Amino acid sequence: MRIERDIKLGFKDVLIRPKRSILKSRSQVDLTRKFFFKYSSTVWSGVPIIAANMDTIGTFQMAQSLSNYNILTAVHKYYSFEEWRDFVSVSSDKTLNHVIVSIGTSNLDFVKVKKIFSLSLELKYICIDVANGYSEHFLSFLKLVRECFLDKIICAGNVVTGEMVEELILSGADVVKVGIGPGSVCTTRIKTGVGYPQLSAIIECADAAHGLGGQIISDGGCAVSGDLAKAFGGGADFVMLGGMLAGHSECDGQIIEKKSKKYMLFYGMSSKSAMQRYIGGVPVYRASEGKTVKIPFRGGIDATIQDILGGLRSACTYVGASRLKELTKRTTFIRVSEQENCIFNSFLF
Ligand code: 5GP
Repeated sequence: MRIERDIKLGFKDVLIRPKRSILKSRSQVDLTRKFFFKYSSTVWSGVPIIAANMDTIGTFQMAQSLSNYNILTAVHKYYSFEEWRDFVSVSSDKTLNHVIVSIGTSNLDFVKVKKIFSLSLELKYICIDVANGYSEHFLSFLKLVRECFLDKIICAGNVVTGEMVEELILSGADVVKVGIGPGSVCTTRIKTGVGYPQLSAIIECADAAHGLGGQIISDGGCAVSGDLAKAFGGGADFVMLGGMLAGHSECDGQIIEKKSKKYMLFYGMSSKSAMQRYIGGVPVYRASEGKTVKIPFRGGIDATIQDILGGLRSACTYVGASRLKELTKRTTFIRVSEQENCIFNSFLF
Protein backbone atom coordinates (compact mmCIF):
# COMPACT_ATOMS: atom_id res chain seq x y z
CA MET A 1 0.00 0.00 0.00
CA ARG A 2 1.17 3.51 -0.81
CA ILE A 3 -0.20 6.95 -0.05
CA GLU A 4 0.18 9.92 -2.39
CA ARG A 5 0.33 12.91 -0.11
CA ASP A 6 -0.04 15.92 -2.41
CA ILE A 7 -3.58 17.22 -2.38
CA LYS A 8 -5.73 16.57 -5.43
CA LEU A 9 -8.24 19.26 -6.36
CA GLY A 10 -11.81 19.35 -7.54
CA PHE A 11 -13.65 22.32 -9.07
CA LYS A 12 -14.92 23.36 -5.64
CA ASP A 13 -11.39 23.76 -4.27
CA VAL A 14 -10.34 26.63 -6.53
CA LEU A 15 -11.32 29.92 -8.12
CA ILE A 16 -9.70 31.63 -11.10
CA ARG A 17 -7.75 34.75 -10.28
CA PRO A 18 -8.77 37.82 -12.36
CA LYS A 19 -6.15 39.44 -14.57
CA ARG A 20 -5.82 42.80 -16.31
CA SER A 21 -7.58 42.72 -19.63
CA ILE A 22 -7.96 44.93 -22.69
CA LEU A 23 -11.26 43.29 -23.70
CA LYS A 24 -14.16 45.75 -23.68
CA SER A 25 -17.02 43.29 -23.93
CA ARG A 26 -17.87 39.62 -23.59
CA SER A 27 -18.97 39.73 -27.21
CA GLN A 28 -15.31 40.05 -28.22
CA VAL A 29 -14.56 36.55 -26.91
CA ASP A 30 -14.33 33.76 -29.45
CA LEU A 31 -15.31 30.36 -28.01
CA THR A 32 -14.56 28.55 -31.26
CA ARG A 33 -11.35 26.55 -31.41
CA LYS A 34 -9.62 24.97 -34.37
CA PHE A 35 -8.29 21.47 -33.71
CA PHE A 36 -5.59 19.43 -35.41
CA PHE A 37 -5.28 15.83 -34.29
CA LYS A 38 -2.47 13.37 -33.72
CA TYR A 39 -3.68 10.69 -36.13
CA SER A 40 -6.63 12.04 -38.07
CA SER A 41 -5.87 14.64 -40.73
CA THR A 42 -9.31 16.19 -40.15
CA VAL A 43 -9.26 19.80 -39.01
CA TRP A 44 -12.30 20.55 -36.86
CA SER A 45 -13.50 23.97 -35.77
CA GLY A 46 -16.22 24.49 -33.23
CA VAL A 47 -17.09 25.16 -29.61
CA PRO A 48 -15.41 22.30 -27.73
CA ILE A 49 -18.32 21.34 -25.51
CA ILE A 50 -19.84 17.86 -25.88
CA ALA A 51 -23.24 16.52 -24.83
CA ALA A 52 -22.53 13.24 -23.02
CA ASN A 53 -23.18 9.89 -24.66
CA MET A 54 -25.82 8.97 -22.09
CA ASP A 55 -29.05 7.65 -23.58
CA THR A 56 -31.09 10.52 -22.11
CA ILE A 57 -28.62 13.23 -23.24
CA GLY A 58 -26.80 12.16 -26.42
CA THR A 59 -29.90 12.03 -28.59
CA PHE A 60 -30.39 12.86 -32.27
CA GLN A 61 -32.59 15.83 -31.27
CA MET A 62 -29.79 17.11 -29.02
CA ALA A 63 -27.33 16.86 -31.92
CA GLN A 64 -29.69 18.83 -34.14
CA SER A 65 -30.13 21.63 -31.59
CA LEU A 66 -26.53 21.86 -30.39
CA SER A 67 -25.05 21.91 -33.89
CA ASN A 68 -26.65 25.37 -34.23
CA TYR A 69 -24.16 26.49 -31.59
CA ASN A 70 -21.27 24.52 -33.15
CA ILE A 71 -21.34 22.26 -30.09
CA LEU A 72 -20.74 18.52 -30.36
CA THR A 73 -23.07 15.69 -29.30
CA ALA A 74 -21.75 12.24 -28.47
CA VAL A 75 -24.72 10.26 -29.71
CA HIS A 76 -25.36 7.25 -27.48
CA LYS A 77 -24.75 3.69 -28.61
CA TYR A 78 -28.30 2.37 -28.23
CA TYR A 79 -29.75 3.66 -31.52
CA SER A 80 -30.17 0.90 -34.10
CA PHE A 81 -28.51 1.10 -37.51
CA GLU A 82 -31.93 1.81 -39.04
CA GLU A 83 -32.42 4.80 -36.71
CA TRP A 84 -28.97 6.08 -37.68
CA ARG A 85 -29.81 5.72 -41.36
CA ASP A 86 -32.99 7.76 -40.94
CA PHE A 87 -31.15 10.42 -38.91
CA VAL A 88 -28.31 10.76 -41.43
CA SER A 89 -30.76 10.99 -44.32
CA VAL A 90 -32.54 14.02 -42.82
CA SER A 91 -29.54 15.80 -41.27
CA SER A 92 -27.50 18.64 -42.74
CA ASP A 93 -23.72 18.34 -43.18
CA LYS A 94 -23.40 20.87 -40.38
CA THR A 95 -25.29 18.64 -37.95
CA LEU A 96 -23.28 15.55 -38.93
CA ASN A 97 -20.09 17.55 -38.47
CA HIS A 98 -21.03 17.95 -34.82
CA VAL A 99 -21.82 14.31 -34.14
CA ILE A 100 -19.64 11.81 -32.30
CA VAL A 101 -20.62 8.17 -32.81
CA SER A 102 -20.31 6.25 -29.53
CA ILE A 103 -19.51 2.57 -29.33
CA GLY A 104 -18.81 -0.03 -26.67
CA THR A 105 -16.16 -2.70 -27.09
CA SER A 106 -18.13 -5.70 -28.37
CA ASN A 107 -17.84 -7.25 -31.84
CA LEU A 108 -21.42 -6.25 -32.54
CA ASP A 109 -20.55 -2.61 -31.74
CA PHE A 110 -17.66 -2.81 -34.17
CA VAL A 111 -19.81 -4.19 -36.99
CA LYS A 112 -22.50 -1.57 -36.37
CA VAL A 113 -20.09 1.35 -36.30
CA LYS A 114 -18.61 0.34 -39.67
CA LYS A 115 -22.10 0.39 -41.16
CA ILE A 116 -22.87 3.77 -39.56
CA PHE A 117 -19.74 5.37 -41.00
CA SER A 118 -20.59 4.07 -44.46
CA LEU A 119 -23.70 6.32 -44.35
CA SER A 120 -21.86 9.65 -44.63
CA LEU A 121 -18.36 11.02 -44.98
CA GLU A 122 -19.41 13.97 -42.83
CA LEU A 123 -19.28 11.72 -39.73
CA LYS A 124 -15.80 12.27 -38.36
CA TYR A 125 -15.71 11.35 -34.68
CA ILE A 126 -15.82 7.96 -32.90
CA CYS A 127 -15.96 7.64 -29.12
CA ILE A 128 -15.03 4.29 -27.62
CA ASP A 129 -16.50 4.47 -24.20
CA VAL A 130 -16.10 2.21 -21.19
CA ALA A 131 -16.50 2.99 -17.50
CA ASN A 132 -13.01 1.67 -16.78
CA GLY A 133 -10.42 2.43 -19.45
CA TYR A 134 -7.68 0.50 -17.67
CA SER A 135 -8.37 -2.91 -19.21
CA GLU A 136 -6.22 -4.78 -21.74
CA HIS A 137 -9.30 -5.66 -23.77
CA PHE A 138 -10.08 -1.95 -24.16
CA LEU A 139 -6.57 -1.23 -25.46
CA SER A 140 -6.68 -4.01 -28.03
CA PHE A 141 -10.14 -2.89 -29.16
CA LEU A 142 -8.84 0.67 -29.58
CA LYS A 143 -5.96 -0.58 -31.75
CA LEU A 144 -8.43 -2.52 -33.89
CA VAL A 145 -10.65 0.55 -34.36
CA ARG A 146 -7.61 2.68 -35.30
CA GLU A 147 -6.52 0.12 -37.93
CA CYS A 148 -9.98 0.17 -39.45
CA PHE A 149 -10.60 3.95 -39.27
CA LEU A 150 -7.21 5.44 -40.11
CA ASP A 151 -8.49 8.98 -40.62
CA LYS A 152 -11.35 9.31 -38.13
CA ILE A 153 -10.96 11.29 -34.92
CA ILE A 154 -10.94 8.62 -32.21
CA CYS A 155 -11.83 9.51 -28.62
CA ALA A 156 -11.32 6.86 -25.96
CA GLY A 157 -11.80 6.62 -22.22
CA ASN A 158 -12.34 6.90 -19.34
CA VAL A 159 -9.10 7.19 -17.42
CA VAL A 160 -7.70 9.68 -14.89
CA THR A 161 -3.93 9.21 -14.80
CA GLY A 162 -1.16 10.43 -17.07
CA GLU A 163 0.44 7.05 -17.78
CA MET A 164 -2.83 5.61 -19.06
CA VAL A 165 -3.51 8.71 -21.17
CA GLU A 166 -0.14 8.11 -22.84
CA GLU A 167 -0.90 4.43 -23.36
CA LEU A 168 -4.24 5.25 -25.03
CA ILE A 169 -2.71 7.88 -27.28
CA LEU A 170 0.09 5.54 -28.31
CA SER A 171 -2.54 2.87 -29.03
CA GLY A 172 -4.39 5.11 -31.49
CA ALA A 173 -6.55 7.63 -29.62
CA ASP A 174 -6.53 11.23 -30.82
CA VAL A 175 -8.46 12.39 -27.77
CA VAL A 176 -8.64 10.78 -24.32
CA LYS A 177 -11.72 11.07 -22.14
CA VAL A 178 -10.87 11.84 -18.53
CA GLY A 179 -13.05 11.31 -15.46
CA ILE A 180 -13.80 8.52 -13.02
CA GLY A 181 -16.47 9.23 -10.48
CA PRO A 182 -17.24 12.97 -10.74
CA GLY A 183 -20.56 12.62 -12.62
CA SER A 184 -23.81 14.09 -11.31
CA VAL A 185 -25.57 10.69 -11.33
CA CYS A 186 -22.53 8.55 -10.65
CA THR A 187 -22.03 6.51 -7.49
CA THR A 188 -18.74 4.81 -8.40
CA ARG A 189 -16.83 6.58 -5.65
CA ILE A 190 -19.35 5.40 -3.08
CA LYS A 191 -19.68 1.86 -4.40
CA THR A 192 -16.01 1.22 -5.08
CA GLY A 193 -13.97 3.85 -3.26
CA VAL A 194 -12.23 4.55 -6.58
CA GLY A 195 -11.90 7.99 -8.19
CA TYR A 196 -9.77 11.08 -8.75
CA PRO A 197 -10.71 14.72 -8.11
CA GLN A 198 -11.57 16.06 -11.53
CA LEU A 199 -9.50 19.25 -11.73
CA SER A 200 -6.29 17.45 -10.79
CA ALA A 201 -7.15 14.68 -13.25
CA ILE A 202 -7.54 17.32 -15.98
CA ILE A 203 -4.26 19.10 -15.14
CA GLU A 204 -2.23 15.88 -15.02
CA CYS A 205 -3.88 14.17 -18.00
CA ALA A 206 -3.76 17.29 -20.22
CA ASP A 207 -0.05 17.55 -19.56
CA ALA A 208 0.48 13.90 -20.52
CA ALA A 209 -1.71 14.16 -23.65
CA HIS A 210 -0.32 17.44 -24.92
CA GLY A 211 3.22 16.11 -24.55
CA LEU A 212 2.34 13.45 -27.14
CA GLY A 213 0.31 15.68 -29.45
CA GLY A 214 -3.02 14.38 -28.14
CA GLN A 215 -5.99 16.07 -26.53
CA ILE A 216 -8.33 15.42 -23.63
CA ILE A 217 -12.02 15.66 -22.87
CA SER A 218 -12.91 16.49 -19.28
CA ASP A 219 -15.90 14.25 -18.67
CA GLY A 220 -18.20 14.82 -15.71
CA GLY A 221 -18.43 16.96 -12.63
CA CYS A 222 -19.44 20.31 -14.15
CA ALA A 223 -22.42 21.67 -12.23
CA VAL A 224 -22.24 25.35 -13.26
CA SER A 225 -20.63 27.28 -16.14
CA GLY A 226 -17.78 28.35 -13.82
CA ASP A 227 -16.79 24.67 -13.67
CA LEU A 228 -16.41 24.61 -17.46
CA ALA A 229 -14.16 27.67 -17.20
CA LYS A 230 -12.08 25.87 -14.56
CA ALA A 231 -11.90 22.71 -16.71
CA PHE A 232 -10.70 24.66 -19.76
CA GLY A 233 -8.44 26.75 -17.52
CA GLY A 234 -6.90 23.52 -16.18
CA GLY A 235 -6.04 22.38 -19.70
CA ALA A 236 -9.07 20.45 -20.97
CA ASP A 237 -9.42 20.70 -24.75
CA PHE A 238 -13.07 19.60 -24.67
CA VAL A 239 -15.62 19.47 -21.84
CA MET A 240 -18.39 16.85 -21.74
CA LEU A 241 -21.68 17.60 -19.98
CA GLY A 242 -24.44 15.30 -18.76
CA GLY A 243 -26.40 16.73 -15.85
CA MET A 244 -26.15 20.36 -16.97
CA LEU A 245 -28.00 19.42 -20.15
CA ALA A 246 -30.53 17.08 -18.52
CA GLY A 247 -34.25 17.82 -18.20
CA HIS A 248 -34.73 19.52 -21.59
CA SER A 249 -37.08 18.82 -24.51
CA GLU A 250 -34.14 17.48 -26.55
CA CYS A 251 -33.50 14.77 -23.93
CA ASP A 252 -34.99 11.31 -23.99
CA GLY A 253 -36.22 11.17 -20.41
CA GLN A 254 -39.55 10.09 -19.05
CA ILE A 255 -41.68 13.09 -18.08
CA ILE A 256 -43.74 12.82 -14.92
CA GLU A 257 -46.19 15.30 -13.47
CA LYS A 258 -46.64 15.95 -9.75
CA LYS A 259 -48.92 18.65 -8.33
CA SER A 260 -49.14 20.12 -11.86
CA LYS A 261 -45.35 20.50 -12.03
CA LYS A 262 -43.42 18.67 -14.74
CA TYR A 263 -40.28 16.66 -14.00
CA MET A 264 -37.98 14.59 -16.17
CA LEU A 265 -36.13 11.44 -15.09
CA PHE A 266 -32.38 11.38 -15.58
CA TYR A 267 -30.19 8.40 -14.72
CA GLY A 268 -26.60 7.19 -14.85
CA MET A 269 -25.64 4.67 -17.51
CA SER A 270 -24.61 2.18 -14.82
CA SER A 271 -27.76 2.74 -12.77
CA LYS A 272 -30.43 0.15 -12.17
CA SER A 273 -32.75 2.15 -14.48
CA ALA A 274 -30.31 1.91 -17.42
CA MET A 275 -29.54 -1.76 -16.82
CA GLN A 276 -33.25 -2.56 -16.63
CA ARG A 277 -33.84 -0.76 -19.91
CA TYR A 278 -31.04 -2.39 -21.89
CA ILE A 279 -30.12 -5.71 -20.30
CA GLY A 280 -33.25 -6.54 -18.36
CA GLY A 281 -31.88 -5.83 -14.87
CA VAL A 282 -28.72 -5.67 -12.78
CA PRO A 283 -26.64 -8.85 -13.39
CA VAL A 284 -25.94 -10.88 -10.22
CA TYR A 285 -22.22 -10.15 -10.29
CA ARG A 286 -22.68 -6.34 -10.56
CA ALA A 287 -23.86 -3.46 -8.39
CA SER A 288 -25.51 -0.39 -9.84
CA GLU A 289 -23.05 2.53 -9.97
CA GLY A 290 -25.49 5.26 -10.87
CA LYS A 291 -28.47 7.19 -9.53
CA THR A 292 -31.87 7.98 -10.97
CA VAL A 293 -33.05 11.51 -10.26
CA LYS A 294 -36.19 13.52 -10.99
CA ILE A 295 -35.37 17.05 -12.12
CA PRO A 296 -37.70 19.96 -12.93
CA PHE A 297 -38.48 19.99 -16.66
CA ARG A 298 -36.65 22.92 -18.28
CA GLY A 299 -38.14 23.14 -21.80
CA GLY A 300 -35.90 23.76 -24.84
CA ILE A 301 -32.12 23.72 -24.49
CA ASP A 302 -31.40 27.17 -26.00
CA ALA A 303 -31.63 29.26 -22.81
CA THR A 304 -29.36 26.81 -20.95
CA ILE A 305 -26.75 26.86 -23.72
CA GLN A 306 -26.79 30.66 -23.90
CA ASP A 307 -26.27 30.75 -20.14
CA ILE A 308 -23.31 28.35 -20.32
CA LEU A 309 -21.68 30.15 -23.25
CA GLY A 310 -22.29 33.56 -21.62
CA GLY A 311 -20.63 32.37 -18.40
CA LEU A 312 -17.66 31.05 -20.32
CA ARG A 313 -17.24 34.28 -22.30
CA SER A 314 -17.38 36.22 -19.07
CA ALA A 315 -14.69 34.01 -17.51
CA CYS A 316 -12.48 34.73 -20.53
CA THR A 317 -12.96 38.50 -20.15
CA TYR A 318 -12.04 38.33 -16.44
CA VAL A 319 -8.61 36.94 -17.35
CA GLY A 320 -8.17 38.79 -20.63
CA ALA A 321 -8.51 35.79 -22.96
CA SER A 322 -9.96 36.88 -26.29
CA ARG A 323 -10.17 33.25 -27.41
CA LEU A 324 -11.06 30.14 -25.45
CA LYS A 325 -7.71 28.67 -26.46
CA GLU A 326 -5.93 31.35 -24.41
CA LEU A 327 -7.83 30.55 -21.23
CA THR A 328 -5.38 27.90 -19.99
CA LYS A 329 -2.36 30.16 -20.44
CA ARG A 330 -4.11 33.00 -18.63
CA THR A 331 -5.43 30.91 -15.74
CA THR A 332 -3.98 31.05 -12.25
CA PHE A 333 -5.98 28.99 -9.79
CA ILE A 334 -6.20 30.07 -6.20
CA ARG A 335 -7.04 27.45 -3.60
CA VAL A 336 -10.10 28.47 -1.62
CA SER A 337 -12.36 27.22 1.12
CA GLU A 338 -15.42 29.18 -0.03
CA GLN A 339 -17.37 29.47 -3.25
CA GLU A 340 -20.72 31.27 -3.56
CA ASN A 341 -22.63 33.13 -0.89
CA CYS A 342 -25.74 31.01 -0.32
CA ILE A 343 -27.56 33.24 2.17
CA PHE A 344 -30.65 33.78 -0.04
CA ASN A 345 -30.70 30.43 -1.85
CA SER A 346 -33.90 29.30 -0.16
CA PHE A 347 -35.67 32.56 -1.12
CA LEU A 348 -35.05 32.40 -4.86
CA PHE A 349 -37.76 34.16 -6.89
P1 5GP B 1 -22.11 15.03 -15.40
O1 5GP B 1 -21.90 16.05 -16.48
O2 5GP B 1 -23.54 14.63 -15.31
O3 5GP B 1 -21.54 15.44 -14.10
O4 5GP B 1 -21.29 13.74 -15.83
C1 5GP B 1 -21.55 13.04 -17.02
C2 5GP B 1 -20.67 11.82 -17.09
O5 5GP B 1 -20.92 10.93 -15.99
C3 5GP B 1 -20.88 10.94 -18.29
O6 5GP B 1 -20.34 11.47 -19.46
C4 5GP B 1 -20.23 9.64 -17.85
O7 5GP B 1 -18.84 9.65 -18.02
C5 5GP B 1 -20.52 9.62 -16.36
N1 5GP B 1 -21.61 8.68 -16.04
C6 5GP B 1 -22.84 8.60 -16.61
N2 5GP B 1 -23.57 7.65 -16.04
C7 5GP B 1 -22.82 7.10 -15.08
C8 5GP B 1 -23.03 6.03 -14.13
O8 5GP B 1 -24.10 5.43 -14.03
N3 5GP B 1 -21.98 5.74 -13.33
C9 5GP B 1 -20.79 6.40 -13.42
N4 5GP B 1 -19.80 6.01 -12.63
N5 5GP B 1 -20.57 7.42 -14.27
C10 5GP B 1 -21.57 7.76 -15.09
